[in-house]
Amino acid sequence: MTIAPGVTVGALQAGLPLDALENRILLCHVLGLTRVGLITGSERVLTDDEAAHLSALLERRLNGEPIAYIVGQREFFGLPFRVSPAVLIPRPDTELIVELALERLARLAPPARLLDMGTGSGAIAVAVAHTRPDALVTALDVSAAALEVARANAAAIGANVRFVRSDWFTALDSDMFDLIASNPPYIAAGDEHLAQGDLRFEPTGALTDHADGLSALRTIIQGAGSHLVAGGWLLLEHGYDQAEAVRGLLSDAGYADVQSWRDLGGIERVSGGRRA
Ligand code: GLN
Repeated sequence: MTIAPGVTVGALQAGLPLDALENRILLCHVLGLTRVGLITGSERVLTDDEAAHLSALLERRLNGEPIAYIVGQREFFGLPFRVSPAVLIPRPDTELIVELALERLARLAPPARLLDMGTGSGAIAVAVAHTRPDALVTALDVSAAALEVARANAAAIGANVRFVRSDWFTALDSDMFDLIASNPPYIAAGDEHLAQGDLRFEPTGALTDHADGLSALRTIIQGAGSHLVAGGWLLLEHGYDQAEAVRGLLSDAGYADVQSWRDLGGIERVSGGRRA
Protein backbone atom coordinates (compact mmCIF):
# COMPACT_ATOMS: atom_id res chain seq x y z
CA MET A 1 0.00 0.00 0.00
CA THR A 2 1.44 3.40 -0.94
CA ILE A 3 0.95 6.24 1.49
CA ALA A 4 -0.11 9.56 -0.09
CA PRO A 5 2.40 12.39 0.47
CA GLY A 6 1.37 15.04 2.96
CA VAL A 7 -1.05 12.79 4.88
CA THR A 8 -1.51 13.53 8.59
CA VAL A 9 -1.13 10.95 11.33
CA GLY A 10 -4.80 11.28 12.27
CA ALA A 11 -6.07 10.75 8.72
CA LEU A 12 -3.71 7.81 8.26
CA GLN A 13 -4.76 6.06 11.42
CA ALA A 14 -8.34 5.97 10.23
CA GLY A 15 -7.38 4.83 6.74
CA LEU A 16 -4.90 2.01 7.31
CA PRO A 17 -6.07 -1.47 6.31
CA LEU A 18 -5.30 -3.31 9.59
CA ASP A 19 -7.54 -3.49 12.66
CA ALA A 20 -7.52 -0.48 15.00
CA LEU A 21 -5.04 -2.00 17.48
CA GLU A 22 -2.56 -3.05 14.80
CA ASN A 23 -2.84 0.29 12.97
CA ARG A 24 -1.92 1.99 16.22
CA ILE A 25 0.97 -0.39 17.02
CA LEU A 26 2.47 0.10 13.55
CA LEU A 27 2.11 3.90 13.56
CA CYS A 28 3.62 4.22 17.04
CA HIS A 29 6.53 2.06 15.91
CA VAL A 30 7.24 3.91 12.65
CA LEU A 31 6.83 7.38 14.18
CA GLY A 32 8.52 6.56 17.49
CA LEU A 33 5.45 7.74 19.40
CA THR A 34 3.66 6.50 22.49
CA ARG A 35 -0.10 5.85 22.41
CA VAL A 36 -0.70 9.28 23.89
CA GLY A 37 1.79 10.89 21.49
CA LEU A 38 -0.17 9.45 18.61
CA ILE A 39 -3.34 11.18 19.80
CA THR A 40 -1.74 14.54 20.58
CA GLY A 41 0.29 14.38 17.35
CA SER A 42 -2.64 13.66 15.05
CA GLU A 43 -2.00 16.83 12.97
CA ARG A 44 1.62 15.86 12.30
CA VAL A 45 2.45 15.18 8.62
CA LEU A 46 4.51 12.08 7.77
CA THR A 47 7.96 12.60 6.23
CA ASP A 48 8.72 10.76 2.97
CA ASP A 49 10.99 8.35 4.85
CA GLU A 50 8.30 7.59 7.41
CA ALA A 51 5.75 7.01 4.64
CA ALA A 52 8.11 4.63 2.81
CA HIS A 53 8.94 2.76 6.05
CA LEU A 54 5.25 2.46 6.91
CA SER A 55 4.36 1.14 3.42
CA ALA A 56 7.09 -1.51 3.66
CA LEU A 57 5.90 -2.71 7.08
CA LEU A 58 2.25 -2.70 6.01
CA GLU A 59 3.19 -4.86 3.04
CA ARG A 60 4.82 -7.40 5.38
CA ARG A 61 1.76 -7.44 7.66
CA LEU A 62 -0.58 -7.86 4.68
CA ASN A 63 1.57 -10.86 3.69
CA GLY A 64 0.70 -12.43 7.05
CA GLU A 65 3.80 -11.71 9.13
CA PRO A 66 2.80 -11.23 12.79
CA ILE A 67 2.68 -7.59 13.91
CA ALA A 68 4.76 -8.51 16.99
CA TYR A 69 7.67 -9.71 14.82
CA ILE A 70 7.40 -6.67 12.55
CA VAL A 71 7.76 -4.22 15.43
CA GLY A 72 9.88 -6.63 17.51
CA GLN A 73 7.74 -6.27 20.61
CA ARG A 74 4.64 -7.60 22.40
CA GLU A 75 3.19 -6.51 25.71
CA PHE A 76 2.67 -9.30 28.24
CA PHE A 77 1.62 -8.93 31.87
CA GLY A 78 1.88 -5.15 31.37
CA LEU A 79 5.57 -5.44 30.41
CA PRO A 80 7.19 -4.80 27.02
CA PHE A 81 8.79 -8.02 25.72
CA ARG A 82 11.16 -8.08 22.78
CA VAL A 83 10.28 -10.85 20.35
CA SER A 84 11.90 -12.29 17.25
CA PRO A 85 11.04 -15.30 15.08
CA ALA A 86 13.27 -17.32 17.47
CA VAL A 87 10.50 -17.22 20.10
CA LEU A 88 6.78 -17.78 20.42
CA ILE A 89 4.84 -14.51 20.70
CA PRO A 90 3.52 -14.31 24.29
CA ARG A 91 -0.28 -14.80 24.43
CA PRO A 92 -2.66 -13.10 26.87
CA ASP A 93 -3.82 -16.65 27.83
CA THR A 94 -0.41 -17.27 29.38
CA GLU A 95 -0.94 -14.50 31.95
CA LEU A 96 -3.12 -17.08 33.77
CA ILE A 97 -0.16 -19.32 34.63
CA VAL A 98 1.80 -16.25 35.82
CA GLU A 99 -1.05 -15.28 38.14
CA LEU A 100 -1.39 -18.83 39.48
CA ALA A 101 2.36 -19.01 40.10
CA LEU A 102 2.39 -15.62 41.88
CA GLU A 103 -0.54 -16.64 44.13
CA ARG A 104 1.36 -19.76 45.19
CA LEU A 105 4.71 -18.01 45.64
CA ALA A 106 2.99 -15.47 47.92
CA ARG A 107 2.23 -18.27 50.39
CA LEU A 108 5.87 -19.38 50.66
CA ALA A 109 8.59 -18.04 52.92
CA PRO A 110 11.13 -16.18 50.75
CA PRO A 111 13.19 -16.90 48.84
CA ALA A 112 10.82 -19.05 46.78
CA ARG A 113 12.40 -20.98 43.92
CA LEU A 114 10.60 -21.11 40.58
CA LEU A 115 11.55 -22.90 37.37
CA ASP A 116 10.11 -21.92 33.96
CA MET A 117 10.62 -24.74 31.44
CA GLY A 118 10.77 -23.75 27.77
CA THR A 119 10.89 -20.04 28.56
CA GLY A 120 11.04 -18.75 24.95
CA SER A 121 10.92 -14.94 25.19
CA GLY A 122 11.17 -15.32 28.97
CA ALA A 123 7.55 -14.23 29.41
CA ILE A 124 6.63 -16.37 32.45
CA ALA A 125 10.00 -16.17 34.23
CA VAL A 126 10.50 -12.44 33.67
CA ALA A 127 6.92 -11.53 34.64
CA VAL A 128 7.25 -13.51 37.89
CA ALA A 129 10.75 -12.22 38.70
CA HIS A 130 9.70 -8.63 37.97
CA THR A 131 6.74 -8.91 40.34
CA ARG A 132 8.69 -10.82 43.00
CA PRO A 133 12.30 -9.57 43.04
CA ASP A 134 12.92 -11.74 46.12
CA ALA A 135 12.16 -15.00 44.26
CA LEU A 136 14.93 -17.17 42.84
CA VAL A 137 13.78 -17.65 39.26
CA THR A 138 15.42 -20.09 36.84
CA ALA A 139 14.40 -20.32 33.20
CA LEU A 140 15.51 -22.92 30.70
CA ASP A 141 15.17 -23.45 27.00
CA VAL A 142 16.75 -25.81 24.49
CA SER A 143 17.13 -22.96 21.98
CA ALA A 144 20.21 -20.74 22.38
CA ALA A 145 18.55 -18.13 20.16
CA ALA A 146 15.49 -18.05 22.42
CA LEU A 147 17.68 -17.70 25.52
CA GLU A 148 19.35 -14.67 23.97
CA VAL A 149 15.95 -13.00 23.54
CA ALA A 150 14.91 -14.00 27.07
CA ARG A 151 18.15 -12.67 28.58
CA ALA A 152 17.67 -9.35 26.77
CA ASN A 153 14.13 -9.14 28.15
CA ALA A 154 15.23 -9.84 31.72
CA ALA A 155 17.91 -7.15 31.44
CA ALA A 156 15.65 -4.53 29.79
CA ILE A 157 12.72 -5.15 32.15
CA GLY A 158 14.96 -5.40 35.18
CA ALA A 159 14.18 -8.94 36.32
CA ASN A 160 16.72 -11.18 38.00
CA VAL A 161 16.51 -14.57 36.26
CA ARG A 162 19.07 -17.36 35.98
CA PHE A 163 19.04 -18.84 32.46
CA VAL A 164 20.07 -22.40 31.63
CA ARG A 165 20.30 -24.00 28.21
CA SER A 166 18.70 -27.39 28.68
CA ASP A 167 16.62 -29.97 26.84
CA TRP A 168 13.94 -30.16 29.53
CA PHE A 169 15.56 -31.55 32.72
CA THR A 170 18.86 -32.80 31.25
CA ALA A 171 21.12 -29.89 32.35
CA LEU A 172 19.48 -29.31 35.74
CA ASP A 173 21.59 -31.55 38.02
CA SER A 174 19.92 -31.89 41.41
CA ASP A 175 18.39 -28.37 41.57
CA MET A 176 15.16 -28.25 43.58
CA PHE A 177 12.23 -25.84 43.20
CA ASP A 178 9.09 -24.82 45.08
CA LEU A 179 7.17 -24.38 41.83
CA ILE A 180 7.67 -25.46 38.23
CA ALA A 181 5.70 -23.72 35.46
CA SER A 182 5.72 -24.38 31.74
CA ASN A 183 4.02 -23.39 28.52
CA PRO A 184 5.47 -26.20 26.39
CA PRO A 185 4.79 -27.05 22.74
CA TYR A 186 1.38 -28.75 22.91
CA ILE A 187 -0.12 -28.58 19.43
CA ALA A 188 -0.37 -32.01 17.76
CA ALA A 189 1.51 -32.69 14.52
CA GLY A 190 -0.66 -31.84 11.52
CA ASP A 191 -3.11 -29.67 13.52
CA GLU A 192 -4.71 -27.22 11.09
CA HIS A 193 -3.92 -24.24 13.37
CA LEU A 194 -0.20 -24.63 12.57
CA ALA A 195 -0.97 -23.51 9.01
CA GLN A 196 -2.99 -20.45 10.09
CA GLY A 197 -2.31 -16.86 11.19
CA ASP A 198 0.71 -15.96 13.31
CA LEU A 199 1.57 -19.63 13.95
CA ARG A 200 2.89 -19.99 10.38
CA PHE A 201 5.73 -17.63 11.31
CA GLU A 202 6.48 -18.87 14.83
CA PRO A 203 9.18 -21.43 15.71
CA THR A 204 7.73 -24.88 15.08
CA GLY A 205 9.58 -26.31 18.07
CA ALA A 206 7.77 -23.89 20.39
CA LEU A 207 4.35 -24.87 19.05
CA THR A 208 4.26 -28.59 18.35
CA ASP A 209 5.83 -31.74 19.79
CA HIS A 210 5.55 -33.28 16.29
CA ALA A 211 3.47 -36.02 17.95
CA ASP A 212 0.11 -36.21 19.75
CA GLY A 213 0.50 -32.79 21.45
CA LEU A 214 1.00 -34.34 24.89
CA SER A 215 4.57 -35.63 24.66
CA ALA A 216 6.33 -32.55 26.09
CA LEU A 217 3.66 -32.36 28.80
CA ARG A 218 4.33 -36.06 29.62
CA THR A 219 8.11 -35.49 29.78
CA ILE A 220 7.67 -32.56 32.16
CA ILE A 221 5.14 -34.36 34.38
CA GLN A 222 7.38 -37.42 34.59
CA GLY A 223 10.57 -35.49 35.36
CA ALA A 224 9.26 -32.70 37.59
CA GLY A 225 8.87 -34.93 40.65
CA SER A 226 12.67 -35.16 41.07
CA HIS A 227 13.02 -31.35 41.06
CA LEU A 228 10.04 -30.32 43.19
CA VAL A 229 10.02 -30.14 46.99
CA ALA A 230 7.22 -32.08 48.71
CA GLY A 231 4.05 -29.99 48.32
CA GLY A 232 5.60 -28.00 45.44
CA TRP A 233 3.30 -27.08 42.55
CA LEU A 234 3.62 -28.09 38.93
CA LEU A 235 1.59 -25.74 36.66
CA LEU A 236 1.19 -26.51 32.96
CA GLU A 237 -0.40 -24.55 30.15
CA HIS A 238 -2.03 -26.75 27.52
CA GLY A 239 -4.40 -26.74 24.56
CA TYR A 240 -8.14 -26.06 24.71
CA ASP A 241 -9.00 -29.77 24.59
CA GLN A 242 -6.19 -31.23 26.71
CA ALA A 243 -7.25 -30.45 30.31
CA GLU A 244 -8.75 -33.88 31.03
CA ALA A 245 -5.75 -35.70 29.54
CA VAL A 246 -3.27 -33.55 31.50
CA ARG A 247 -5.19 -34.06 34.76
CA GLY A 248 -5.05 -37.80 34.05
CA LEU A 249 -1.28 -37.68 33.51
CA LEU A 250 -0.81 -35.69 36.74
CA SER A 251 -2.96 -38.10 38.76
CA ASP A 252 -1.21 -41.15 37.27
CA ALA A 253 2.15 -39.63 38.25
CA GLY A 254 0.95 -39.32 41.87
CA TYR A 255 0.33 -35.56 42.07
CA ALA A 256 -2.19 -34.31 44.67
CA ASP A 257 -4.77 -31.48 44.42
CA VAL A 258 -4.95 -31.99 40.65
CA GLN A 259 -7.11 -29.32 39.02
CA SER A 260 -7.53 -27.04 36.00
CA TRP A 261 -8.10 -23.30 35.68
CA ARG A 262 -9.93 -21.38 32.97
CA ASP A 263 -8.49 -18.51 30.94
CA LEU A 264 -10.37 -15.26 30.18
CA GLY A 265 -12.08 -17.01 27.27
CA GLY A 266 -13.54 -19.59 29.70
CA ILE A 267 -11.30 -22.40 28.40
CA GLU A 268 -9.48 -24.77 30.77
CA ARG A 269 -5.98 -23.54 29.91
CA VAL A 270 -3.76 -24.49 32.85
CA SER A 271 -3.71 -27.71 34.87
CA GLY A 272 -1.57 -28.53 37.84
CA GLY A 273 -1.00 -30.46 41.00
CA ARG A 274 1.30 -30.68 44.00
CA ARG A 275 4.09 -33.16 44.55
CA ALA A 276 2.77 -35.47 47.26
N1 GLN B 1 -1.11 -21.02 22.72
C1 GLN B 1 -0.49 -21.21 21.44
C2 GLN B 1 -1.55 -21.25 20.37
O1 GLN B 1 -2.39 -22.09 20.38
C3 GLN B 1 0.34 -22.47 21.43
C4 GLN B 1 1.46 -22.35 22.37
C5 GLN B 1 2.09 -23.65 22.69
O2 GLN B 1 2.06 -24.64 21.96
N2 GLN B 1 2.67 -23.66 23.81
O3 GLN B 1 -1.56 -20.40 19.52
